[in-house]
Amino acid sequence: MSPKKVVVVGAGPVGSLAALYAAVRGDVVEIYELRPDLRDPDTMPLNFSKSINLALSERGINSLRKTQLDDLVAAVLRETYPMHGRMIHIIKKGKYVQEPQLYDARGKCLLAMDRTTLNKILLDRLETMPNVTLHFSHKLVGVDFRKNLAWLEPLDGAPELELPFDFMIGADGAHSAVRYHMMKCVPMSYQQDYIDKLWCQFHIPPSPEKHFRIPPHYLHIWPQDSSMFIALPNLDKTFTATLFATRDEFAALDKSGSTNIVEFFKTKFPGVVPDLITPDELIKQYTSNAHLPLITIKCTPYHFSSSGVILGDAAHAMVPFYGQGMNAGLEDVRVLFDFLDKYPEDRAEALRRYTEQRTPDAHAINDLALRNYKEMATDVKSPLYRVRKWVEET
Ligand code: FAD
Repeated sequence: MSPKKVVVVGAGPVGSLAALYAAVRGDVVEIYELRPDLRDPDTMPLNFSKSINLALSERGINSLRKTQLDDLVAAVLRETYPMHGRMIHIIKKGKYVQEPQLYDARGKCLLAMDRTTLNKILLDRLETMPNVTLHFSHKLVGVDFRKNLAWLEPLDGAPELELPFDFMIGADGAHSAVRYHMMKCVPMSYQQDYIDKLWCQFHIPPSPEKHFRIPPHYLHIWPQDSSMFIALPNLDKTFTATLFATRDEFAALDKSGSTNIVEFFKTKFPGVVPDLITPDELIKQYTSNAHLPLITIKCTPYHFSSSGVILGDAAHAMVPFYGQGMNAGLEDVRVLFDFLDKYPEDRAEALRRYTEQRTPDAHAINDLALRNYKEMATDVKSPLYRVRKWVEET
C-alpha cells in the first residue's frame, strides 16, 4: 500500500504519540500545532514555561511501550519519580499528622512526571523521523471532512494554507477545532460542564540543604472537603502543588487580601505555611498564578467516515482527580492503532469499531474522575475508608 498522508492537529502529549504511531507504520505525517515549539526558549511565552506535574500510570506507560521504541520509553521513565501511595496531612486529636496510605501491597506505583518534559521527549523523537514534519504556530481554522481538506492559518501572517489529507487525527485539546468541524458532518452527541472548582498551581522549593521538604515517594494530600491542596514530587527535589477550591472560596480569598490567604492555608492545610512555602511566596504565587476552571466533556462518535478521528482531551476532557486525563488520551492512541492494524484495508470500519469500544470506556473514566474528588478530599480522612478499601480488595 502507498503511504498515507496523516495530518495530526495538536502536538500535546496525545497528538505527539499519535504522530509517532503513524510514523512508525510508514505513513507521511504532518503535525500542526497552534503554539510555538515548547522546546524553544526564545519563542515560548513566559507563562507557558510552568508545566503541570502529572501522574503517569500503567495505562499511559503501556501505550508508550506499544510504540516498540524501547529507548523512548527508557527516556521517559528516567524523568519520572515514583509515588508509592498517598500521604494524608490532617489534624488528629489536635495534632498535625502525616499518614501514608500505600497504593498497592505489591509495590505498584504511580509515576510523577512533568508534562512538558514528556512532550519534549516525544517531539525530539518525532523530529528524527524522515517521514514526519512539524509545523508550530499554525492554527487549524477549517476542515471539510467530506473533501479531505483542511485550512490552517500560520501565525506569522503568511497566507492561509489549504491542505489535502488522507486521514486527520484531532488531538487539539478540550476546545478542539477539529471536533467543532467534525460536528458539521456527524450527528455528534456532546455534553460539557464546568465543575464548581478552580485550581491554582504552587511551587515548593527544596530545603536549604537541597533535600525534599516532605517525604518524596508520595502524592501528598491535604483533604478539606470543599477544598484540597496536593503536591507531587519533581526530580529536582521540588514539589509542584495545586490548590483546588470552590469558586466562592477563591472569590472570598481574592477579596479578603494577603493576610487571609495565609490564614486560610494555616487553618486548612497544616504544615504548608511557613514550612513548605513562606507567607510572602504563598501570596505572590496565589496572586500571580492563574486561577483556572475545570471542564469535563463527553461526546460520541469520535470519528467521521474514514477521514478523521478525535483523541485525548478533544474527545473526553476530564477533571484531574483520577489522574487519568492524559493517560486515557495515550491509551486512545494505542486502541485506535490496534483497530487500524486490524482493518488495514477498511479505515472506516476501524474507526467505527474504535468509537464503539472507546465511548463507554472514556465515559466511565470521565465519571470516575468526577467521583474521585470526594475520595481525595473527604473519604481519605475517615478510618472507615481504609476498612472499606480492604474489604473491596480482598
Ligand atoms: P492538550 O495537552 O490540551 O494539547 C492540545 C494541543 O493542541 C495544544 O498544544 C494546543 O496548543 C493545540 N491546539 C489547540 N487548538 C489548536 C488549533 N486550532 N490548531 C492547532 N493546534 C491546536 N492527566 C493525567 O493523566 N494525569 C494527571 O495526573 C493529570 N493531572 C492534571 C492536573 C491538572 C491540574 C490538569 C488541568 C490536568 C491534568 N491532567 C492529568 C490532564 C492532562 O493534562 C490532559 O488530559 C492532557 O494534557 C491532554 O492531552 P492532549 O494532548 O489531548 O491535549
